[in-house]
Amino acid sequence: MDPSANLLSPRKKTRQIHIGDVAIGGGAPISVQSMTTTKTSDVDATLAQIYELAAAGADIVRCTCNDAAAAEGLAQIVPRSPVPIVADIHFHHEMALAALEAGVHGLRLNPGNLRKESEIKLVASEARDRGVPIRIGVNAGSLHPDIAARFGGATPEALVESARIELAYFEEVGFSDVKISVKASSVALMIAAYRLASECFDHPLHLGVTEAGPPPGGLIKGTVGIGTLLAEGIGDTIRYSLTADPVEEARAGRQLLEALGLRERKGLDLIACPSCGRAQVDVIAIAKEAQAALEERSLPIQVAVMGCVVNGPGEARSADLGIAAGKHKGHLFIRGEIVRVVPEDQMVEALVEEAERLVAEGVEARLAAADSRAAEEAEADRRSLLEETGTDPNAAAVKISHIRSRYAS
Ligand code: SF4
Repeated sequence: MDPSANLLSPRKKTRQIHIGDVAIGGGAPISVQSMTTTKTSDVDATLAQIYELAAAGADIVRCTCNDAAAAEGLAQIVPRSPVPIVADIHFHHEMALAALEAGVHGLRLNPGNLRKESEIKLVASEARDRGVPIRIGVNAGSLHPDIAARFGGATPEALVESARIELAYFEEVGFSDVKISVKASSVALMIAAYRLASECFDHPLHLGVTEAGPPPGGLIKGTVGIGTLLAEGIGDTIRYSLTADPVEEARAGRQLLEALGLRERKGLDLIACPSCGRAQVDVIAIAKEAQAALEERSLPIQVAVMGCVVNGPGEARSADLGIAAGKHKGHLFIRGEIVRVVPEDQMVEALVEEAERLVAEGVEARLAAADSRAAEEAEADRRSLLEETGTDPNAAAVKISHIRSRYAS
């Protein structure tokens, strides 16, 4: 875990459960989940998507189990999957039993849709005997009508009450291998519901904003809801629900955890300045080009693309590697120290080459191999640019002087 995670609220202590070999709660790394969009009965297509999701950062994948053909598909998918599989069950308890028969690592039950006490207890007993955990997956949109009536709608208290009733059924048959979710499409509602759930239960919590919609709006909702709770120390496993290729969900989940320092960096983190009047190059174009080239190589480092050498190396000194433009050159820096100066049209190429060497050889070795004249050259370029634009990055004073001399009557 990144030391910056220590700046967040301490994580709430929860019980630990295991979905296959993935531990959830009890201090385990926060896991990323996603869900397939293929027909579960189409084994090859579903497995192909599961592999894509795992490569994008999913630790656990959920598949719908809505009919017997889906359950049969699960029986073939589970042994060939690279990550544990959870079966999503809504209306038919028989499908939960069939999914258990297929060997799934976890179940998700929606208490709003699967309502008969005897059926719920039967599924819980079967899961208990097989050692398979269940997620009590409450959704504001499909809350049990009696509970909605009692609480005057889908309030945080109503969502938590729905989970509490289901949990009580489970406990009556001696089953407590459970995680809980209280999702809503309203970000404010889900935050309030999870805060309450965290006070009421010590079971691990699965976080998500349901039906968040397509990106970018869906990503923003998911990030605000999940990110707020994680920063408060709440949550043990997460899922973005996007109307998009589920690979985007897995990637977003992973990136959120890495951004908060809650998971080790697995992929590239490209930071770039927003550009301003001092920018010496098209920062957006260079950042995109660099991102594409670096992502292709799956390098687990933070790389900065900065528009000018005046502020760039200093502002991005915490990045493993960066490049800043100025005077038609690119100034490559490692942890803020200039190591090489290259022509402007070779900026991306030089950045990628240095990134590969940095990952292969390490920071110390690359700093030791720095061009001894690079720092001096960069400083000369920085001073020259400062003289040209002074402290006015948009050169407004120069522009105003030109306008006055040309157009003033
Ligand atoms: S001052 Fe330089 S590094 Fe900062 S935003 Fe402007 S161009 Fe980018």
